[in-house]
Amino acid sequence: MAGEPQEDCLFCKIVEGSIPATIVRETETTVAFRDINPQAPTHVLVIPKAHHKDAAALAADAPGLAADVLRETQAVADDEQLESYRTVFNTGSGAGQTVWHAHAHVLGGRGLDWPPG
Ligand code: IMP
Repeated sequence: MAGEPQEDCLFCKIVEGSIPATIVRETETTVAFRDINPQAPTHVLVIPKAHHKDAAALAADAPGLAADVLRETQAVADDEQLESYRTVFNTGSGAGQTVWHAHAHVLGGRGLDWPPG
């Protein structure tokens, strides 16, 4: 069911603490941790603690929680003192989504080309 922890979900396991992560911020509803394979000097993932499979499902099922995630992306950028940064939600395997628990990538600390690959 939407929002319930999923046994086979890597990010649900990070939320519950059974898989380690370098957590940089936590709120009642969100966790932010460093990406294990960083693509920029700052590469942090912001996730809702509740399980939603992607950003579209999160926005449809829990818009307030989607806003919490977005607010936290700015908080990460502030903590990391990023003047410019990019927030990415890969949605669907064709766009590069590999973990099926909604997450925002916060990338910064270097110049970022547009369009992305
Ligand atoms: P996606 O490809 O948009 O779904 O992003 C998933 C991200 O999760 C990738 O950038 C991975 O490097 C990252 N990732 C996978 N496993 C872990 C982990 O255990 N800790 C932190 N980041 C992870």
